[in-house]
Formats: sequence, C-alpha cells, structure tokens
Amino acid sequence: MKTNRIRAAVIGVGHLGRFHAHKYAGLDNVELVGVADLNISGARKVAKEVGTRAYSDYRELIGKVDAVSVVTPTETHLKIGADFLSRGIDVLVEKPIAMDTGEAKKLVEAAEASNAILQVGHLERFNGAVTALAGRVNSPMFIESKRLSPFPNRSTDVDVILDLMIHDIDIILSLVNSDVVSVDAVGIPVVTDNVDMANARLRFANGCVADITANRVSRERQRVINIYQPKNNIHIDYAEQHITIAHITPDTEAGYAKLIDAELDIVKSDSLLEEIKAFLSCSATGKRPLVSGHEGLVALEVASQIQAAVAVSPHEPVK
Ligand code: NAD
Repeated sequence: MKTNRIRAAVIGVGHLGRFHAHKYAGLDNVELVGVADLNISGARKVAKEVGTRAYSDYRELIGKVDAVSVVTPTETHLKIGADFLSRGIDVLVEKPIAMDTGEAKKLVEAAEASNAILQVGHLERFNGAVTALAGRVNSPMFIESKRLSPFPNRSTDVDVILDLMIHDIDIILSLVNSDVVSVDAVGIPVVTDNVDMANARLRFANGCVADITANRVSRERQRVINIYQPKNNIHIDYAEQHITIAHITPDTEAGYAKLIDAELDIVKSDSLLEEIKAFLSCSATGKRPLVSGHEGLVALEVASQIQAAVAVSPHEPVK
C-alpha cells in the first residue's frame, strides 16, 4: 500500500489539462482524486483514461485535495487559483499566470496569505536543453529567440505575447541578471482580433539586448534561442532539446581565431512531467518553486510592457 501520497486534481482537462492528468496518474506519490471541467463529458472521458472521478464544478474538490493544476483558459486563472490558494491548497497554474499584472498580484498575495505553494507553468524551464545551460551563461550580451508555429485554433483568448512569447520572456529574464530599461515592439493581428505575430527588443540595464519573435500564424514551426556572450555563443533548439555551444579557438596556423561547435550530450526530459514533479516536491516540502508566482508576475510585467509598446506601434504603413 502506498503511503504519504499527495492528493491531487486537475482543473480543466482540455488540450493541455489532459496531459497533466496523465502525468499525475503515472506518479507513485500521487493519488489523483479527480479531474474537473465545465465540459463534463470531456472530464468523464479523461477521468476514464486515468482511472479517477470526473467533476463539473471544481469547488467540489476543495477539502479533498492538497494540490491542483489549473489548466483552464487564462481569464479564469485568478478566480480558480484563488479559490484553492485561499484554502491552503497548492496550485500549479498554467502560463500566463493571469490576464494582467493586477490579477497576477492578487494570486501571489493569495498564496502568501495562506502560505500555499504557487507555481506557474513556464514549461521550458524544465526542458533538458535549458537545464543543461546551468553555469554556462555568465555574461549574455545579445539574445535572440524565435517561437513560430502554424495557427493553432487554441489559446486565442490571449494574444501571441501571452500565448507564446511569455515562454521566452521568462527564460531570458532567468538568464539576464539585470532590469529591463527599455522595450520596443511591433505586433499585428493576422487571423484573430488579437496580435498574432510580434517582435520585441528588450534592453537591459547591464547593456544586454534581447530580440524576441513570436508568431502563431507562421508556415513553419521553430523554437530556438541564441545567446551571445564573450568567448562563446550558445544555440538551443527547444523542440529537439538540443544545445550547441560555439567556442572561440585560437588558430595559430591560419593566424585567426575560429568558432568550433560542440554539441552537448544532454538528457532529454519530459518537460511537463519534470515540472509537475518539481511542483509536487515543493508541495511536500514547502520549498519555493523554481518558477513561483513572483517569476510568473515578473514575466507578465514585461509582457505587459511589450503589449503597451505594440499598442503605440503603427499597424498601417506610413504614407
Ligand atoms: P483548452 O481550451 O483546450 O482547455 C481548457 C479547458 O478548461 C476546457 O476543457 C474548458 O471546458 C475548461 N474550463 C474552462 N473554464 C472552466 C472552469 N471554470 N472550470 C473547469 N473547467 C473549465 O485550453 P488549453 O490549450 O488546454 O489551455 C489551457 C491553459 O493552458 C491556458 O492558460 C494556456 O495558456 C495554457 N497552455 C500552456 C501551454 C504551455 O506550453 N505551458 C501550452 C498550451 C496551453
């Protein structure tokens, strides 16, 4: 018989929540008490797959669980997250933490008031290629990232900045130990009424510049980041979980330095499983999450600055 199992539930079992439910169900230290979704037939289907109970009203799970994943549309994160946090139930809320920074602050405050764990689902932090970066990024001076995908027909309740770019904002903020001092951006709605493609240029107090492109109406799928720093540059392909480091090697024969690529042999991870395991570990020990509500809020603050810069950029060509 398994002991000390964390009683968990998943709220919202649409596209991503179903994966959360499967991850919890596969863990020995978890009792998956239930899944909840307004769409009860969807909840029943997922509950059957993972051998748990389906609920249409997530509030029925209060008092039955220690920890939940909130995988509902972003506009519901504050209400659902706060309902659990205020009762001391630990919450892993999907990214972005909330619709705006005011809502995000309320979630962070709810967690602080009840001493509950609040983790935000910035999945890429648990990508094997990103964890392999530890200790290798010392003085990044230029970072460029591209996250492109064909139109998804999902998550269109938010713009591409909150949908996709927020992943790269969070990663870049975790790499550059300095404040953002200026933001320039352009973004355009293509398919939806929200911005579907955006490019932002962040300048940090220490001189580092980050150029970030996010596009959900692209022909191709690409998820890469290049980090340039003195003596080397690092390339990560998030999707392939691949990392290449180009080192400068002095070439005495030719008389000039050369860049030599080294492919790192990394352990590929199941990022969602690692994220959930990290959350459960914090839930069990009270340890601060790697991506707590604070990191989720800071990423959203920068995303909001980008949204504001986009709002003043001209959508029409200047005549
Ligand atoms: P989805 O529309 O496929 O699923 C959302 C589900 O939530 C639906 O089944 C809906 O019925 C349910 N729901 C809505 N309101 C509810 C409520 N009050 N109570 C219970 N259930 C409710 O959306 P999705 O693509 O799974 O996205 C969900 C969240 O996950 C969003 O915040 C999105 O930004 C995030 N997301 C994160 C990543 C990532 O890489 N980390 C990827 C995709 C989506």
